[in-house]
Amino acid sequence: MAYDQTATEEKPCAAKQPTAADLAARLDAELRDAHPLTILRKAYETFGDKLALVSSFGAESAVLLHMASRVAPSIPVLFLDTGMLFGQTLDYRKALAAKLGLTDVRDLRPSFADLAVHDPKSDLWRSSTDGCCNIRKVLPLDRALGEFSAWTTGRKRFHGGDRLRLRVVEESEGKVKFNPLANWGKAELEAYAAEYDLPAHPLVSQGFPSVGCWPCTKPVDDPNADVRAGRWAGQDKTECGIHVARAPGGAPNVGEGI
Ligand code: SF4
Repeated sequence: MAYDQTATEEKPCAAKQPTAADLAARLDAELRDAHPLTILRKAYETFGDKLALVSSFGAESAVLLHMASRVAPSIPVLFLDTGMLFGQTLDYRKALAAKLGLTDVRDLRPSFADLAVHDPKSDLWRSSTDGCCNIRKVLPLDRALGEFSAWTTGRKRFHGGDRLRLRVVEESEGKVKFNPLANWGKAELEAYAAEYDLPAHPLVSQGFPSVGCWPCTKPVDDPNADVRAGRWAGQDKTECGIHVARAPGGAPNVGEGI
């Protein structure tokens, strides 16, 4: 039977289920050297419909999305449509989901109330990228993840920074988080994409090794630069916040970082 985080909460007298941290540690020991497809299969087998996959439909997203389509095309795919994405990303999201036969891609948008109060002119990114990411990414994802016990990301160690120490399976905010591509490098990603003839994000050929929102993403000239060098270029910021551990107490305040 698939693990259900809510089962423990609703049935205090039932046999005690392992915590998310217990499960993550056990699964990481089992899967840390496994093929990404094996990791994804195990994640789905363990969590069933309590597992979501979070994807930016960015420069390297096609590989994990293709694996998801092989494991379960109906897996819920959470896509953060920040309202600041390149038009090419929105087109790519539609075309790739259709090509792969993914049947449950959910577009997560910032709430009207948060935008009205904190970013009425859609220019918060100029004064506070942390605040902007909070209302356009962190909070919508927190809301959407409420119904899930586990989620899957496309992060890889070779992207550097905080990702250098990335585990294949970790615990995050009381949920189990799978990073099936943690061990893969550029060569493996390219080989997999070539083997299955996966379409590239249209901006990759225009010099974008990583694609996020248009105000915060630049092309990168230096072939030796980090993959994410064009994200928030010139700022200390390297992550949008959805992968940053928060203080006990759960979701951040709406205005956090603003
Ligand atoms: S990446 Fe930039 S535009 Fe997108 S949500 Fe974050 S700060 Fe806002």
